[in-house]
Amino acid sequence: MNVWRRLTGPRRALALAGAGALVAGGLVTIPVTAAQAATQCDIAYTSNDWQGGFTANITIKNVGDPLNGWTLGWTFPNSSQRVQQGWSATFTQSGSQVTAQSLSYNGTLATGASTSIGFNGAWSGSNPKPTSFTLNGVVCNGGTTPPTTPPPTDPPPTDPPPTDPPPTTNPPPGTKVDNPYVGVRGYVNPEWKAKADAEPGGSRVSNNPTAVWLDRIAAINGTPDSSSNGAFGVKDHLDEALRQGAGYIQFVIYNLPGRDCSALASNGELGPDELPKYKAQYIDPIAAIQGDSKYSSLRIINIIEIDSLPNLVTNTSGQPGGTVMCDTVKANGAYVNGVGYALAKLGSIGNVYNYIDAGHHGWLGWDSNFGPSAEILKTAAVASGSTVNNVHGFITNTANYSALQEPYFKVTDNVNGQTVRQSKWVDWNFYVDELSFAQAFRTKLVSLGFNSNIGMLIDTSRNGWGGSARPTGPGAMTSVDTYVNGGRVDRRLHLGNWCNQAGAGLGERPRANPATGIDAYVWVKPPGESDGSSKEIPNNEGKGFDRMCDPTYGGNARNGNNPSGALGDAPISGAWFSAQFQELMRNAYPAL
Ligand code: BGC
Repeated sequence: MNVWRRLTGPRRALALAGAGALVAGGLVTIPVTAAQAATQCDIAYTSNDWQGGFTANITIKNVGDPLNGWTLGWTFPNSSQRVQQGWSATFTQSGSQVTAQSLSYNGTLATGASTSIGFNGAWSGSNPKPTSFTLNGVVCNGGTTPPTTPPPTDPPPTDPPPTDPPPTTNPPPGTKVDNPYVGVRGYVNPEWKAKADAEPGGSRVSNNPTAVWLDRIAAINGTPDSSSNGAFGVKDHLDEALRQGAGYIQFVIYNLPGRDCSALASNGELGPDELPKYKAQYIDPIAAIQGDSKYSSLRIINIIEIDSLPNLVTNTSGQPGGTVMCDTVKANGAYVNGVGYALAKLGSIGNVYNYIDAGHHGWLGWDSNFGPSAEILKTAAVASGSTVNNVHGFITNTANYSALQEPYFKVTDNVNGQTVRQSKWVDWNFYVDELSFAQAFRTKLVSLGFNSNIGMLIDTSRNGWGGSARPTGPGAMTSVDTYVNGGRVDRRLHLGNWCNQAGAGLGERPRANPATGIDAYVWVKPPGESDGSSKEIPNNEGKGFDRMCDPTYGGNARNGNNPSGALGDAPISGAWFSAQFQELMRNAYPAL
């Protein structure tokens, strides 16, 4: 997990027009052309309703010429009807008009062939079925509900092609709740709890929910021999969550091809060209387990791919410290398509909630990074057959140390006629803390077409900054620098430092609905687990040695040539680091 802010550089014009705006606008109308004149279709639309929600299944039967790609369209009779999460097609809704576009595996429909798609929806008042459908712009003749009996000359309806993900094996049990953290207890990972309990004083915090990191393929079934993971696999955690009577459980999906492209400490097992392996051997098996109906009572929360997409904005060639690996995974689409695939596959499960990683203010708070990062998140959200409906929200500050709130200065403050944005610490950033950033970023994401009810999470596991070094009031008004440096609670040597930061403390304990737009404060990085080794340590996990984890390192352009601020004697990322855990407890804010 490695996050750098980008040094101030040329600002980029916000490219808000174009694709993003178009998709946000919704409906794509496909004109009826001569080539489509022989399109004909039978549609069977069934829905299973309950108060406020429903699951609809639609069978599309091609009774015209063979099709190579199709778009089904309809208008909901009642303005309250909404598609929420769909499967086997890309759904778009604008007002009451809906389109469902074929995916790569089900676009080809021979004459007489059928395919099934479906979605979870919401309604109020009543939930009437649509009465008319179009396929590639042509009104379907027999497209009313209930399904019409095919004329006797028709071949009998064929089964859906075997490659279709069968919607019925993962039947979403109900409409997703707006905020999965509300009203239920979080899963306590017994493996993390055991390590915390083994520390003097650790039992004061060991009952907090922390996320389970699936940081390699082997973690799906459990990795008893690894130094940075546990013996429990995904099934074991889910079974244990049921046993605990937990309402939600959090997993981190973290294994992209060419992972951690801008740094070394959390490089992973997959090379940059291994997207097929990521899909087939990592995402698919996780989805199969999470989709097991045995777990349908749990709210399964997936935190999707830390640091990946913003790295494509800030750490490619031509940027200070840009890397070849970031260039490679940007050019080959591994991150964008990998994230899109994970969203589509996991998001189609009714009780699964996806939150995509969205960096933190000390990385994306400059306008040259803010807009472009939001745009690439949108691009990924609609890649590989995904739609924005697969995104429940975003998380900021994952495994980082950015203060939740700076109580003693605001970004709008001035000292002697100079804005605090000119101070060395703030360095022209538009945000000085995580809460204000997360709220503003949420607004930006909604403006680009994400659903208006998305929620943010903030990882507060290590951003407490309490203890004796915590300022108790504003800094001296001598200059912007004395004012900011004297008053800031984030005591890092530089905002770009990210590895095992000395002086940090546990932050806000996990809780739901803490502020406007924020679904929860969460502990995604399990406190006590290292960010990276302070010297080279051979390992079989693909993890490298990053000098930002070495306390003797003097820094580089990306952290203003400051020392790394890292604690010494750290093990590889993910491994237990007792000294850090002790310090985090000492400096907890709120105090323990
Ligand atoms: C590591 C993972 C680990 C996670 C949680 C990451 O930095 O790369 O292996 O599971 O932190 O500690």
